[in-house]
Amino acid sequence: MNLSTSIEQIPRIGPVFQKKLKKLGIKTIRDILYHFPHRYEDFSDIIPISKIKLNENCCILGKILEIKNSRTWKRRMILTQAVVQDKTDAIKVVWFNQPYLTKTLKIEDNVCLAGKVVRGDNGLYLSNPTYEKVPESSIQHPASNLTHTGRIVPVYPETERLSSRWLRYIIKPLLINLGNKIPEILPQKIIQENKLLSIGKAIWQIHFPDSINLAEKAQKRFSFEELFLIELAVLQARMALNKEKAISILMDIELVKKFVKTLSFKLTDAQRKSSWQILKDLEKSRPMNRLLEGDVGSGKTIVALIAALETIKNGYQVAFMAPTEILAKQHFKEVSSRFKDFNINIGLLTGKEDKFISKKLKEETIEISRQKLLEKTIKGDIDILIGTHTLIQDKVKFGPPPGGLALVILDEQHRFGVQQRAKLVAREIDAKTTIPHLLSMTATPIPRSLALTIYGDLDLSLIDELPKGRKKIITKVIAPANRKKTHQFIKKEVKKGRQVFVICPRIESPASAKATAGKQNSKEDISSWAEVKAVKEEYERLSKEVFPKLKVVMLHGKMRPKEKEKIMMDFKNRKTDILVSTSVIEVGIDVPNTTVMVIEGAERFGLAQLHQFRGRVGRSKYQSYCLLFSESGAVKTRQRLKALISSENGFELAEKDLKIRGPGDFSGARQWGIPDMIMDSLKDVFLIEKTRQAAKELLEQDPELKNHSFLEERLKEFQARIHLE
Ligand code: ADP
Ligand code: MG
Repeated sequence: MNLSTSIEQIPRIGPVFQKKLKKLGIKTIRDILYHFPHRYEDFSDIIPISKIKLNENCCILGKILEIKNSRTWKRRMILTQAVVQDKTDAIKVVWFNQPYLTKTLKIEDNVCLAGKVVRGDNGLYLSNPTYEKVPESSIQHPASNLTHTGRIVPVYPETERLSSRWLRYIIKPLLINLGNKIPEILPQKIIQENKLLSIGKAIWQIHFPDSINLAEKAQKRFSFEELFLIELAVLQARMALNKEKAISILMDIELVKKFVKTLSFKLTDAQRKSSWQILKDLEKSRPMNRLLEGDVGSGKTIVALIAALETIKNGYQVAFMAPTEILAKQHFKEVSSRFKDFNINIGLLTGKEDKFISKKLKEETIEISRQKLLEKTIKGDIDILIGTHTLIQDKVKFGPPPGGLALVILDEQHRFGVQQRAKLVAREIDAKTTIPHLLSMTATPIPRSLALTIYGDLDLSLIDELPKGRKKIITKVIAPANRKKTHQFIKKEVKKGRQVFVICPRIESPASAKATAGKQNSKEDISSWAEVKAVKEEYERLSKEVFPKLKVVMLHGKMRPKEKEKIMMDFKNRKTDILVSTSVIEVGIDVPNTTVMVIEGAERFGLAQLHQFRGRVGRSKYQSYCLLFSESGAVKTRQRLKALISSENGFELAEKDLKIRGPGDFSGARQWGIPDMIMDSLKDVFLIEKTRQAAKELLEQDPELKNHSFLEERLKEFQARIHLE
């Protein structure tokens, strides 16, 4: 038996449990040993029975004097009642509905019991304690032989209904057999410099710690290990990418100037600087992998279009991928109008419709079949193909040399999985000797610590200023009593010619949602239907009762694409006044004439998401407002809304969000499959930088880890784990 032995070969684990473990991704002994507790219960103090106290948790050790089952007729329960005695006193013990206990625990047995002391009709008793038999031989030193009591006991996340008791029962013998045989993957120097526990010690101490302090040290070691592996993976990916070839796109400054002249505004310095960095990257014959990070409304699209234009005019194709259909269509419209004097063929490929649109120079938009569009793309006739994740389907192929796909633009890239991003580029690697340049864009300000780990293989361009002349958005939490006043205010804004967004969260009432959902019964469906229901109700209320004279429309994810598009276009063309919507408009939507963003149930959204919503307004010279309604007075909600009011900087907000909520909610991190306990360490910027430094130094000396074979093996497994779907 070794670490790679599959769990099926462990005799104690029957088929039912094998299945459960597999659901958690646990396949080998190593996996199970790396399934860590999420907290501990301290039962290390075994006290005399005479010292127990009402309502306290305690641990005692004594002999069973009596034990028997009885049935309570009233509540149809089986009680196991026992009396346990030590040198100082005796106490009653009661378990509920565990009749099999009388088969395990017999009179005269020594037991260790840990649980809560409560008062019954006949005095104090121990209620449902955790129990463990203690062999006569180890009565003097019980702790070293105990697993569930009499020590600091691990508590595991009880998913898939795997009890902590069962996991301890499985893990402990494995540790006894293999705990000392786990090869150390961290180089000795790194262990010493960072004062880490060795693997042999850490693996024991994380499961069965001798003290809380040692448990923490063990956690630190595994956090370090996991982050170290991430950093190695990221750095190696980057080294590999640097070896690949890409098409060099020559910079044509005159073309850029000509394009910029067609805009109705001047580029900001940050836009100019980012464009320059990108164009410089494109000139190189190795693939760009750059993240363009800029707050909502900072004008990332234009920068991407400059890169696209240069690529196209060099004779190559561009793929422009957006996370939602609405956004893809918006981009299609924007690209069509911005490129209209540049003789460029533009295609739009989304998922749901059968018809697709292509636009030639100064021609009307024409709808063509998907088949035709794909044919045109493969011939190289489409210069820029815009779409959703449909673009990564194998059917979509780009033109042959000397042309072909040379640049991929990924908008709101945090919305795509790590795998999707990898696939986009990898597909091209198989097909050709060159791979496309990749420009990712995001407005989700990723805290530096996370960016360093997750996107460490990307170069970063920052748009850290908003276009000039934008007014600060006034953000306010509105007390319920002021709802009427707010309605008056909205009427006034509309009268002035402005428009209004109203966002509704999902109502968490599965029962009512189910009724609406009808036949739909998957979990996801129910929740999105709940969202739809909320929007419909709000729409009814606003259009009939509150603003009968205004043009109120609604938008949600369950509408047909055509319908959605029409609603968005009408709104954009100012045919309607108020758009009531689900969170579908969270990303990217650009309607500058909108000045009021009303968010209902603001407590249900994360800070980053609220900031995204707010970014939908404040895109013109008019004063804009973000008005928040919240039904919750919870401390965290208040903290979050306060942060939103006091800060308009997305990056600052992201740091605050990280502090308030922890990193679990940041997209990206989840997809790495990082265990929760390790996720916590992502908060620790210092630790991240240390692991990054260590990884860098090691790879400089030993790029392929030839002299660190255990580490190399482990890294390969790790990479497989994060890359496979
Ligand atoms: P985001 O970075 O959120 O994707 P967009 O690219 O959608 O932002 O740009 C937001 C709005 O600002 C658009 O209406 C765009 O035309 C406009 N815009 C972009 N750059 C500038 C600029 N330098 N000056 C004024 N307006 C700009
Ligand atoms: Mg955008």
